Amino acid sequence: HRAEADALLEGLNPEQKAAVIHQGGPLLIMAGAGSGKTRVLTHRIAYLLATGRAQAGEIMAITFTNKAAAEMRERVGALVGDAQGRRMLVATFHSACVRILRQNYDPAGLKSTFSIYDMQDAQRLLGMVLKAQDVDVKRYTPRSIGARISDLKNELITPSEYISTMGSDPVSQIVAAAYPEYNRRLRQANAVDFDDIIMLTVQMLSENPAIAEYYQRRYRHILVDEYQDTNHAQYVLVRHLVGIGANAVAPGELTVVGDSDQSIYAFRGATIRNIEEFEKDFPNAQTIVLEQNYRSTGNILSAANAVISRNSGRRPKKLWTASGSGDRIVLDALDSEYEEARNVIRHIEALNSEGADWGDIAVFYRTNAQSRSMEEMLMRSGIPYRLVGGTRFYERMEIKDALAYLQAVVNPEDTVAIRRILNTPRRGIGDKAETAIMAHADRYGLSFGAALDAVTQGETIDGLSPRAATSVAEFWTMLADIRTQAESGASTAHVLDELISRSGYLAKLRESEDPQDASRVENLAELLSVAEEFDVERRQSGETEGTLAAFLERVALVADADQVPGDDDRRGAVTLMTVHTAKGLEFPYVFVTGLEDGTFPHRRSMEDMSELAEERRLAYVAITRARKKLFLSRAATRSAWGQSEAMAASRFLDDIPEETVEIGREPTRETYGFSSGTSTSSNSGIAFGSGKPGSLQSTFVKSQPTKRLGSPAVGGGKLGQASAKPALKLEPGDRVKHGKYGEGTVTGIDGSGPQAVARVDFGGTQKRLLIRMAPLKKL
Ligand code: ATP
Ligand code: MG
Repeated sequence: HRAEADALLEGLNPEQKAAVIHQGGPLLIMAGAGSGKTRVLTHRIAYLLATGRAQAGEIMAITFTNKAAAEMRERVGALVGDAQGRRMLVATFHSACVRILRQNYDPAGLKSTFSIYDMQDAQRLLGMVLKAQDVDVKRYTPRSIGARISDLKNELITPSEYISTMGSDPVSQIVAAAYPEYNRRLRQANAVDFDDIIMLTVQMLSENPAIAEYYQRRYRHILVDEYQDTNHAQYVLVRHLVGIGANAVAPGELTVVGDSDQSIYAFRGATIRNIEEFEKDFPNAQTIVLEQNYRSTGNILSAANAVISRNSGRRPKKLWTASGSGDRIVLDALDSEYEEARNVIRHIEALNSEGADWGDIAVFYRTNAQSRSMEEMLMRSGIPYRLVGGTRFYERMEIKDALAYLQAVVNPEDTVAIRRILNTPRRGIGDKAETAIMAHADRYGLSFGAALDAVTQGETIDGLSPRAATSVAEFWTMLADIRTQAESGASTAHVLDELISRSGYLAKLRESEDPQDASRVENLAELLSVAEEFDVERRQSGETEGTLAAFLERVALVADADQVPGDDDRRGAVTLMTVHTAKGLEFPYVFVTGLEDGTFPHRRSMEDMSELAEERRLAYVAITRARKKLFLSRAATRSAWGQSEAMAASRFLDDIPEETVEIGREPTRETYGFSSGTSTSSNSGIAFGSGKPGSLQSTFVKSQPTKRLGSPAVGGGKLGQASAKPALKLEPGDRVKHGKYGEGTVTGIDGSGPQAVARVDFGGTQKRLLIRMAPLKKL
């Protein structure tokens, strides 16, 4: 295999090569975007196999999406043969952990048929808990309390640990009461939520050293892509799997790759700490830095470097490219989001007529809501496009219903699934009946399903009418009957078909006059063909056990990014997606839209330095997806909540070096003025914004490169109110009043000029506020 192995090193630069052949201690490959991190990971796996240093079955590679996992498996397969490729475990953290939990359900405190609750299911269950605890769910929503519980699970903090450290505010009190009860109900329903998938695996491995040892011996090579987006629980998991710390018996080889400048999942508990402290966390670790970018032109790279370099506390990187400066970056400012969309379409059509495939083009936006204007214009223009994300197929009502039927067959204790379909379609088991069954279950410590079983066995339940009881028995018997078919080997598609037919669900939709219901029927047909494909796949792979559960698992773990077609399947349609979803991808032509303060950076983030830094990383990710040409645009007005609002240019635009850009469209009218005097910034960025207030002429003042015309905004917009004032002069000890947080005391000032941040104590709550933006008044 020597020749084969050597061929894998061809075309790699010396640092990439070193990373591929590295042997022994933990390895961190830390490098900027497009420097070949993912490629190195793939080649490293292939190299381990080709040199015989590892068997395919000894490799566990963790990717950020299922799609990326499939691609990596394919690429390794192409390099060393498909048969080898199939024996590796290449998966997301969640998929890998589900596999481990299925193999060890008992020590993990689960039953083999456990359900996986998505966010919607989990919030339903939490809603039941909160209501039972008399919480005002309008004020303390299942969403917000759920987010708190999710954070705790990502930090591996158990309910009892939380109680011993929590604060005394009302939200903490609610969380402290809800968290253990929510977990109890999950286990009673034989279900796990997304965060449990990781947390339970970690707990199981740490409580069962023998099992941890088994995995350490089995997977000799653990490789993790996008390591900058791991959270604490995932970090601890990696330690257990590799064998570091208390549970270590047979340490394997660990390779992680990442870029701290691309960490964009702090809201899911991801922490840059993991990549920054790698060398401390893993003794004998070695770091390899890659500096050559193979993806983008020089201009694109300069812009990306300039934007990210303004984040403080990062290690500077020297990313370079041998590909020349390339085309200039096109900068367009339009009057409205519709004009902006129209402008994007003009460019797309021009690219296409010059020979670019639609599939070479991607349009990014900060949030899903922004896709609407773009979609409308694309539809009108007839350009084929594909929208990734938004309302997902698997979140549609009829799909959730059908899946709940399947779930109830697999896991008869699944409370959320069963309650969802109990009276859907209507079968005479109304709210009153449901409440009576629930009360019975609670009184006797039964799962909801067990209570239904009791009714079916003829037990009487207080408050349940004989008519409802008969319906319950029919419903439950039907499910039991179909379960028997499933257990004796019926295909997923057959079971699904039986369920939606015999339950009357399909018939109800077919009878309906509502045109929406017709498309629901089509969606169910689509689900049925997904199930058929899955059955074929399973039969081909020779796996016949647990097909139904495997299908539900696959569906439960589908993420937005999994809908992005691979490089080879992209042809023929423009791709629209959020920047988050675009992570790790590349396109020849990239449009980043909505570059306005308040849109990108997102409004929510503008007062908080750490959130603003994350927005900047997001901008860096967006820019670095482009290979040949980058188009940046903004709208001078944008409508939200039915009102048109004046938008200032994104501060990120200010940082982009003048010589890399070409100014395209300019707004014909500015509905508000800009103040150019309030900023003391002296960066060399181009001025991208408006000239004089109300000016009708050129708004891109290229002759005054140091002037920050984009921000701060002044005037009309809601944003303007916060930033119109000249920067406040503050010093420690000053009393201030904040528009939202009330009165507080300045405890310190960090930085200066437009970057100055005030640390303020609002009656015990500490905030870091960007003075320039925050609605602060000195008292
Ligand atoms: P990101 O940070 O965005 O995840 P990355 O560091 O993982 O990027 P890759 O996606 O692996 O980078 O590589 C970027 C592009 O550069 C890909 O098209 C890849 O094929 C190409 N590339 C990487 N290394 C080389 C090389 N040595 N020679 C030629 N092309 C390369
Ligand atoms: Mg990558």
